[in-house]
Amino acid sequence: MGQTLTEKILDDHLVEGELTPGEEIGIEIDQVLTQDTTGTLVWLQFEALDLDEVQTELAAQYCDHQTFQFDFKNTDDHRFLRSAAGTFGAHFSRPGNGICHNVHKENFAAPGKTMLGSDSHTPTPGGLGELAIGAGGLDIAVAMGGGAYYVEMPEVVNVRLEGELPAWATAKDVILELLRRLSVKGGVGKVLEYTGPGVESLTVPERTTITNMGTELGATSSIFPTDDQTRDYLSRLGREDEYVDVQPDEDADYADEIVVDLSDLEPLIAQPSMPDNVVPVREVEGVDVDQVIIGSCTNGAYEDMLPAAKMLEGRNTDKTTDMIVQPGSKQASEMLAREGWTAELMAAGVNFSEATCGACIGIGHVPASDSVSLRTFNRNFEGRSGIEDDNVYLCSPEVATAAAIKGEIVDPRDLAEELGDLEDPGIELPDEYIGSSESDLIPPEEAVDDDLIKGPNIGDVPLKEPLGSEIDGEALLKMEDNITTDHIIPATADILKFRSNIDKLSDFTLSRVDDTFAQRARNNDGGLLVAGENYGQGSSREHAALCPMYLGIDAVLAQSFARIHKANLFNFGIVPLEIDEETYEQIEQGDDIEIVTDVAEAIASGQEEFTIRVNDDWEATAILDASERERRFLADGGKLTHTKQQHDSGS
Ligand code: SF4
Repeated sequence: MGQTLTEKILDDHLVEGELTPGEEIGIEIDQVLTQDTTGTLVWLQFEALDLDEVQTELAAQYCDHQTFQFDFKNTDDHRFLRSAAGTFGAHFSRPGNGICHNVHKENFAAPGKTMLGSDSHTPTPGGLGELAIGAGGLDIAVAMGGGAYYVEMPEVVNVRLEGELPAWATAKDVILELLRRLSVKGGVGKVLEYTGPGVESLTVPERTTITNMGTELGATSSIFPTDDQTRDYLSRLGREDEYVDVQPDEDADYADEIVVDLSDLEPLIAQPSMPDNVVPVREVEGVDVDQVIIGSCTNGAYEDMLPAAKMLEGRNTDKTTDMIVQPGSKQASEMLAREGWTAELMAAGVNFSEATCGACIGIGHVPASDSVSLRTFNRNFEGRSGIEDDNVYLCSPEVATAAAIKGEIVDPRDLAEELGDLEDPGIELPDEYIGSSESDLIPPEEAVDDDLIKGPNIGDVPLKEPLGSEIDGEALLKMEDNITTDHIIPATADILKFRSNIDKLSDFTLSRVDDTFAQRARNNDGGLLVAGENYGQGSSREHAALCPMYLGIDAVLAQSFARIHKANLFNFGIVPLEIDEETYEQIEQGDDIEIVTDVAEAIASGQEEFTIRVNDDWEATAILDASERERRFLADGGKLTHTKQQHDSGS
């Protein structure tokens, strides 16, 4: 049997293990991406490991999440990041230059390479044939230091595309259709590899919309083969020499196959408040819309804003609907402006934001209470917009613009019929991508700092003690299914400005679930957490493991864990134990839970089944699914302490 494209790239980069699904493998990383929310910790950990120079082919530090400067903390962080990039040898993308995935796609993403990024939407360049995986910041620091990245070998699923998209259906509808079919857990432990005759009809920007949002399926990564579209896109970027032909073997052996006939697709929309709550737009027509935003790393490219501009040419937005364009990169913004489209959009009533994540994480453009917002983003978790009672829908730029024109949700096909002169703008690539990157992207050889600059809000990275023989504590919080990293550490500006100050940030741990939690954890000197399915879904934010660790949480008992968060729990020395539904139902918040064994010894010896005793009254089984390496992290008090010990002993 031949190899899938994923297996071929992994094989080329393999340093440890075998490509058997479920087995842990170690791979060499070519490119690394980090952003400002996660980046400060990445570099503080890089420093704590006594590393002095980036060893990967390329590393890039972006400033995109916290670009609005509310006070000195964000500016201090950005200056620290610029100094870290200069000191250690990474490219530095200045605040306002754009969202990491968009800028990386425009400047660095290349077929056949491996990439690791401290952001969950890192798989975006899979649309160009790069195998890109999201990971926690500590994994990034170690990879930048030349260490291998360890991950469970995923299953490779063939997503076979047939036909061509009909009018008004878009790449966003392809991924929304997959979310409708597979749910937010449908891609867990998998790489989605796109094949079939439908692939060649999709341009690279359309492909990256699909690979970006594969993250919402829980997939480890998503990837397309390369072809004339890839070559064409790279050549318009002036990077044709980076084209490499990467293909699966004709007889590649896939774990599963999903067929999507593009010609069957129609405009779709994800209703509040989960990306998989997908229905045809026609099913929700008529809902009044207060706000429309086009942007984010999913649909913030030039090719996403241009259709909106064409649809609005000579028209106005509805007087009750505010429309905002938040470009994914400054280059896209600049091109739109140079071609006159910015003026067209402004004349139609559209407002512009700087190129940033912004509204995607509730920073700016927070919807009014109990209002409806249509966004072209990838996530609509409750409260992510910055207000708890939000009603955020996810859709394509075409559906969003149609709603801005009509003031209510409308299928653009129906709006076109109503207006008589509205045509599907389709997708159009510029002859040549031009823009500001030269002034806004500083390569390591032009670094402006050669020493770290730390402001008063930048603290040290806390370390955990090695694992002891006992885990015994109160179930401090019992949570439902699908708790996101946004629930654990909210990504809003007023909280995330403390991202480099763990003592202060920890006060907000799980505050969206229970605002007494952090204080109770401090008073109790720690304890345990209990959760349902898919605990820790969402971003790669390692603060969501670091802050509970700092508060003394020793173990999380959950029915299942999201991949990156589980890795982060190991990295910070918190034991992730799986329990069945019956045990979950039986445990009450406030129960005393004891793990009945010498925990350190059991973990070191490879024990998988653990007995937990609840209130000294009843017992149940909990499972530790961990590799040898992950067990060593737990024993040593986390990956940072473990790696430091290895460095110090010279091993
Ligand atoms: Fe930024 Fe939102 Fe994309 Fe995350 S999902 S990188 S917050 S735009």
